[in-house]
Amino acid sequence: MSEPLSEVLPQVPSEVSSEFSSEPYGGSFARRAAELDAADELAGLRAQFVLDDAVYLDGNSLGALPRSVPGRVEDVVRRQWGALRIRSWDESGWWTAPERIGDRIAPLVGAAAGQIVVGDSTSVNVFKAVVGAVRLANGPGGEREADAGRPGPVRDEILVDATTFPTDGYIAASAARLTGCTLRPVAPDEVPDALSGRTAAVLLNHVDYRTGRLYDLPSLTAAVHAAGAVSVWDLCHSAGALPVGLDEHGVDLAVGCTYKYLNGGPGSPAYLYVRREHQHRFDSPLPGWNSHADPFGMTPDYAPAPGALRGRVGTPDILSMLALEAALEVWDDVSIEAVRAKSLALTDFFLECVDAYVPEGAVESVTPSVHAERGSQVALRCAGAGQVMRRLIERGVVGDFREPDVLRFGFTPLYVGFGDVERAAGVLARLL
Ligand SMILES: *Cc1c(COP(=O)(O)O)cnc(C)c1O
Repeated sequence: MSEPLSEVLPQVPSEVSSEFSSEPYGGSFARRAAELDAADELAGLRAQFVLDDAVYLDGNSLGALPRSVPGRVEDVVRRQWGALRIRSWDESGWWTAPERIGDRIAPLVGAAAGQIVVGDSTSVNVFKAVVGAVRLANGPGGEREADAGRPGPVRDEILVDATTFPTDGYIAASAARLTGCTLRPVAPDEVPDALSGRTAAVLLNHVDYRTGRLYDLPSLTAAVHAAGAVSVWDLCHSAGALPVGLDEHGVDLAVGCTYKYLNGGPGSPAYLYVRREHQHRFDSPLPGWNSHADPFGMTPDYAPAPGALRGRVGTPDILSMLALEAALEVWDDVSIEAVRAKSLALTDFFLECVDAYVPEGAVESVTPSVHAERGSQVALRCAGAGQVMRRLIERGVVGDFREPDVLRFGFTPLYVGFGDVERAAGVLARLL
């Protein structure tokens, strides 16, 4: 790193020419976009990100780079690691970073301090949470007596969102095999009917990664509790985009990534929420030395640390973790309610522009029109979607394609404006 990182970042040339950004329908939508941008109280935040003229609608896959990050990473590498070396575990706060950064994420997902640890990938945290949930649901001594029929847990079924992001399903299947449970995929709407006295854990996505559908976390969590089961929510597509209310709605366990709407950077560590009242009974299937009550005691026997710390495993990935910490500073004066209000206004406006600009029948939105069921993305079904997305990206409108026929556009209210939305719809219309 001989030059500051900020000077070696690629400058992507924008191919959004005036030809594509001109308003095709008399300019009324472009005028409205300008008015909405002028009234937008979050508009100033865009300057805190490294962006160019492209319309970046892929922040639900990889959030843009906050300007504070390159300098922080350079300091962590050069000074904390290079000069302080081992002293940084204490002096630079490396050792306590997982819980400190967890407490920074907590207000964004409606959690009081002391319930979130950052570390590992979402996939690994899904594993900890689902196995932990089955153990919580069955409790100490919750296994059947060997002579009471089949050995194994009394609550021996795990329900998983049938439309889940694949990794959650794969991990849940393995967790089921390891705990002697059966895995039952069910559509989230059908979870209340599928619950029974056999249900141990229910793993759900707050927002569907493909369609952008937002599920009713309060009522589904209440249904899971009424059946005596334990809820596990995956917040990958909701944290940083809308209020979650983990504490308020009684969620038991939750996981999420930090590289989507939280802008932590590629592969930045994920997080695990363990509700305070469950912490003393949370029995992690990955009890590494970092979650030991006395990690430097180096004892042969495991004793879990108190609190959310028992969700830790091994040595934290400090470089990514501290890049994430810098990225989260963007949120210092931002309320998640304001972000949600702007997110809904952006997706409403996009749907309106698409409706007005795009030829009838060329695309079909699979994102719910009802606000209560919409995350912060719009997914449009479209013939030849893969090719259409490639051409959109060539023209400076960056979304992504999801099999089999979905154009996915993510709206990050911290840096996407209404003018971007109008331009994206205009370019899409010209392509189709
Ligand atoms: C993005 C995403 C993941 C990613 O998992 P990783 O382990 O970080 O690769 C998991 N689940 C959902 C629902 C996601 O949207």
